[in-house]
Amino acid sequence: QGYYTRRGGIGESGDFITSPEISQVFGELIGIWCISEWMATGKPKAFQLVELGPGRGTLTDDILRVFSQLASLLSKCDISIHLVEVSPKLSEMQALMLTGGRVQPDPQDESAYMKGITKTGVPIFWHRDIQDVPPGYSFYLAHEFFDALPIHKFQRTGKGWREVLVDIDPEVPDQLRFVLSPSSTPATENFIQPEETRDHVEVCPEAGVIIQRLACRLEKDGGAALVADYGHDGTKTDTFRGFRNHKLHDVLKDPGTADLTADVDFSYLRKMTQGKAATLGPIKQREFLKNMGIDLRLQVLLQNSHDPATREQLLQSYDMLMNPKKMGDCFNFFALLPHHRLAQTDRKHKPESKSPLPPVAGFGELSL
Ligand code: SAH
Repeated sequence: QGYYTRRGGIGESGDFITSPEISQVFGELIGIWCISEWMATGKPKAFQLVELGPGRGTLTDDILRVFSQLASLLSKCDISIHLVEVSPKLSEMQALMLTGGRVQPDPQDESAYMKGITKTGVPIFWHRDIQDVPPGYSFYLAHEFFDALPIHKFQRTGKGWREVLVDIDPEVPDQLRFVLSPSSTPATENFIQPEETRDHVEVCPEAGVIIQRLACRLEKDGGAALVADYGHDGTKTDTFRGFRNHKLHDVLKDPGTADLTADVDFSYLRKMTQGKAATLGPIKQREFLKNMGIDLRLQVLLQNSHDPATREQLLQSYDMLMNPKKMGDCFNFFALLPHHRLAQTDRKHKPESKSPLPPVAGFGELSL
């Protein structure tokens, strides 16, 4: 029914709220992460910032502010922004937030359906698919993107794996229900790993395809990908759920009116790189943000603000992002990098190396 293409309610007045919407510090630290990787790889002459599923555009907006603040460092670097978004409604919101409306829609253009210039003067493009983003050294960001993609569900039975399907309840009109496929299906044959030990699994093949594409791009053109989402490393089973107006919502009720989501299986994403890229994580959000220096950033913002309401808001949003009982533990960070980026950090045992690369920020201490 196209929840994202029609409703897509992100934010306080919508169906769910995300970290970039909670605090500006979140996006700022991700901006620093990109710059730190750019510096660690020898400050290439150009980079693309590619965001998958940018929602309201807040994350990219906060990152662009960091890029402008560090303009002297980036002055010789040719930067462009590429947003991969399927929702016409959300792409309009992104255009307004990021360019103030300075965009040209071009529905005839197969690769970029809209382009413009950001408020900070950077060229920006909208694409429907990651494959339409031009090749080149890029930072790929996917925040709460993979959890929004459709999954297949499977149940182990005495007769082997069966697919969980959605059916119309014959007893109640307009009511959907889950059923088990009577026999195996193409999906049970193709999407379950032979070594699987769980009895119930959720697989998101679309996420697998996107990760394969990212890994190939990183191998060929360099850069880094950062995936942040709630999820697990191949341990959880039944996580499919819906959210409407910030409350859990029956996934089978009123299709198209609620955000449907399933935890991201990072072990599956790692497998889908097929060895073409190195991976780091998943690590917990509070660990990643701490390594990125969130405490120092909070102190600076608190020192600069004298209004008690603003200070209270800063402290509350910090707590929301970092508290293990809130978003600190259930959100994870996972990175994809070209193999040579990590091979070089581990050169302790190779005396021929003169200048080992610093550790990848967030997964180790930030060192600029
Ligand atoms: N990253 C944002 C929004 C998360 S919601 C945030 O954290 O606030 C998921 C986003 O992915 C929305 O922008 C939605 O429109 C987009 N999306 C969903 N399916 C997509 C697909 N197949 N291709 C591209 N974008 C998609």
